[in-house]
Amino acid sequence: MMKEMEAVAKAIEEARLIAVSSHENPDGDSLGSHLGLTLVLRSRGKAVFSSLPEPERYPPQYRFLPGRDHLSSPGEMEGIPDLFVALDCSNLDRLGELRQLAERAGLLVNIDHHEDNRMFAPINLVDPEASSTSEIVFKLVRGAGWKVGADVATCLYTGVITDTGRFQHLNTKPETFMVAYQLALEGADISRVGKEVYESQSLPYTRLLGITLQRVEVIEEYGLAYSYITRADLAETGASLPETEDLIDYLRSVRGTRMAAVFKELEDGRVRVSLRSRDEFQVGPIARALGGGGHASAAGYTSQRDLQGSLEELLDALREARGGS
Ligand code: 5GP
Ligand code: MN
Repeated sequence: MMKEMEAVAKAIEEARLIAVSSHENPDGDSLGSHLGLTLVLRSRGKAVFSSLPEPERYPPQYRFLPGRDHLSSPGEMEGIPDLFVALDCSNLDRLGELRQLAERAGLLVNIDHHEDNRMFAPINLVDPEASSTSEIVFKLVRGAGWKVGADVATCLYTGVITDTGRFQHLNTKPETFMVAYQLALEGADISRVGKEVYESQSLPYTRLLGITLQRVEVIEEYGLAYSYITRADLAETGASLPETEDLIDYLRSVRGTRMAAVFKELEDGRVRVSLRSRDEFQVGPIARALGGGGHASAAGYTSQRDLQGSLEELLDALREARGGS
């Protein structure tokens, strides 16, 4: 790990134009690590092209993050970057249309904490033991002796608390609190992060939450709690999909279940499926079997089937995973 960290720091020091990106369907950790690193690179005098594969899906609860003004749209990049840094991506497809730029860059660096990371770059700074990609970025910046400061700390702290479910999931280690402590010392705005991320939901989303919770079903055979969101629900309430990231946590809370699934109907008719598990049960392998990926206890994929079809597909995969028929 130390060796890769030094190699990444050196690559950054030597590069002039650096592109930074993170995965589709952005979340707190992809955005926190992405914007935090963008700010660090800018303060080190680098020319930075910072962009998201799906800028239109930026979740409103992360609008407050410092550094968001520095984001460009994917098509705006001019020239070939000396270095491309991919954050929180287990494989190159997670970069969407920015994948081509990553492949053309002088050097590619992969910073991530997914256990299914494909080690797709010449330099892979990948630590599945880390709570979050933001934690790895913090250690990188600290290790290199670069300045952190309050804005960067706020971004990275957001990544740590969202990926650990506020220091609650199995990926929370004693070290996670050490990192949070150091980010707090750097001036992370802890109460603002909590308020913006967890206590600023829109009225339309609050109503959508009601509709979705009303529909929860439990299939006892699999210990599965599930619900779904249709395009009509979004139209009726005025809510948007990116703000529904945490909704699944309510389903995971149903006692007696071991996993939760939320099926979200996309504009093109496909269905985004989010999976979460309780305790030791692993949803990562199930998401991978269905063409997606993620962590042991938080994973996802996109199904080509409709809502009913994607539920059947998941139940088939669960049956298969159990080794029965
Ligand atoms: P979410 O349910 O929040 O969309 O995703 C949960 C976790 O699974 C995140 O860590 C995310 O990066 C990962 N994930 C979600 N969808 C995919 C996918 O299609 N491919 C891969 N490789 N990972 C995914
Ligand atoms: Mn992450």
